[in-house]
Amino acid sequence: MTVSTLLQRRHKVLGDQSPLFYDEPLHLVRGEGVWLYDINGKRYLDVYNNVPSVGHCHPHVVAALSNQAAKLNIHTRYLDEGIVAYAERLTATFADPLDAVMFTCTGSEANELALRIARFASGGHGVIVSDYNYHGNSTSLAEVTTALPAPEPFGRHARAVPIPNLYHAKQGVSADQLAEEYAAKVAGAIASLKADGIKPAALLIDTLFANEGLPRLPAGFVDKAVALIREAGGLFIADEVQAGFARTGEHLWGHQAHKVVPDIVTLGKPMGNGHPLAGLVSSRELIESFGRNAMYFNTFGGSPVAAAVGMAVLDVIENEQLLANAHQVGAHVHTRLQKLAEKHAIIGDVRGKGLFFAMELVRDRASKEPAGAEARIIVNTMRENGVLISKIGPADNILKLRPPLVFSIANADLFVDTLDHVLSRL
Ligand code: PMP
Repeated sequence: MTVSTLLQRRHKVLGDQSPLFYDEPLHLVRGEGVWLYDINGKRYLDVYNNVPSVGHCHPHVVAALSNQAAKLNIHTRYLDEGIVAYAERLTATFADPLDAVMFTCTGSEANELALRIARFASGGHGVIVSDYNYHGNSTSLAEVTTALPAPEPFGRHARAVPIPNLYHAKQGVSADQLAEEYAAKVAGAIASLKADGIKPAALLIDTLFANEGLPRLPAGFVDKAVALIREAGGLFIADEVQAGFARTGEHLWGHQAHKVVPDIVTLGKPMGNGHPLAGLVSSRELIESFGRNAMYFNTFGGSPVAAAVGMAVLDVIENEQLLANAHQVGAHVHTRLQKLAEKHAIIGDVRGKGLFFAMELVRDRASKEPAGAEARIIVNTMRENGVLISKIGPADNILKLRPPLVFSIANADLFVDTLDHVLSRL
């Protein structure tokens, strides 16, 4: 079957808007570790996928999944030791008072539930987000989304505040000033909600600002905003759907870098290494008080299979020391990418931490004119050269580099050498 016949069949049943990567869509049939194989047997180095975070088809995760699926899988209203043991192990990785968890199947559901809890606890409705955010596909989240088109209008109850970015800061503006400016804008957003008679319920931000393009952040700007939302009676929801599970190589959770304990942390993508497992972690007090007022039930969220998979993912992170690997290999990639920037003028900025990098491409380093068309060519040419990457940002000019956490130094060198080759022929 050719790519074009499968594409035609897909369009007929999924619609032609159903999103696909690459100018010529990729038909993958197998994965193993950091490698993906297409229908023709061509092998690709995966420098994009964070969902199969402990590696594609990791044998320990596959065994846990299939063993449990062969034994029992049922909805979540029976006693099951697996989910309790997993919840105990997961919550033990969070600081006080984050000691309880609710399970869902997707990051969207987790953020939707977090908003419901924040609205219940605060008695408010207003939400403050970033000006280029994506937190999920439910109606409430679509109403606060700024990064993707949605038919729902941006909510009257929502305020979008730009995230500070040192790379785009005006000359002479210090990191401290940027952090202060952000706090002032959050204070302004709170005041503007109140002026419209809307009580703030939550500050909802991704702790890495992944969809925003991993901006170069000033230190200590999140805690100021968190203090302001709490003063206004709202909660801080930390979206860790992309930042969590050791991605940053510094901590298991992205919010730890901001030195602030959120009221609610939402989790997803890498949590089940591809199995639909997501959820939120908060205080037992908050979860119980919400639960007394709302009967929340999720048929599949936290099933016996989901629990077995989640536990196996934590085993691999620990046994294979993936936090340390993300740190070490990430540092190597970072150094090599910075060297590449000395050679190729199109690289305006290299940033990121652990195994998550953004490379901002510009036509001119002084004006920082976005090189969006070039980014598209690079992403497609990298694929032809056997390396999978993607791009993000309002101008689509930021390369998004985010391999599985089992990425090795040799993988890193192959990736950077290929990028060097592709940039040299641009
Ligand atoms: N939060 C963030 C930061 C995300 O990037 C995404 C998905 N891209 C989501 C939430 C939604 O997760 P899901 O697709 O599992 O619903």
